[in-house]
Amino acid sequence: MMNEIIADRELIAYCGLYCGACHKYLNGKCSGCRLNDKATWCKIRKCNMESGNHTCADCNMDVADCGKYSNFISKVFGLIFRSDRKACVYRIKMIGEEAYVKEMSAKKAMTIKK
Ligand code: SF4
Ligand code: SF4
Repeated sequence: MMNEIIADRELIAYCGLYCGACHKYLNGKCSGCRLNDKATWCKIRKCNMESGNHTCADCNMDVADCGKYSNFISKVFGLIFRSDRKACVYRIKMIGEEAYVKEMSAKKAMTIKK
């Protein structure tokens, strides 16, 4: 069963990716970051859940300065997927979650590209 691409704030991952346009989410293989209880390995997810932020865009810390956000693994991830997750967080800070999910779903994009 394929899910449709819709604009839903709850489909923004804690790190700023838009799970709502991810192939794994759309083909039902992943519930998205928020509901994915297997993602306990992720420090970004854990940090947001513990601090009560909806995403890193709600945090006082700049993601560029955050060791949990900008670590070696996230750099490798960024290279493989040509993904600029920091740009996603900055975009959410700039235009807000509601406009962000509209923009990402219209572009059918799970990330802003490098
Ligand atoms: S890297 Fe972490 S916060 Fe980002 S989508 Fe994956 S589990 Fe969620
Ligand atoms: S920017 Fe860093 S400290 Fe702030 S919520 Fe994200 S992972 Fe946590």
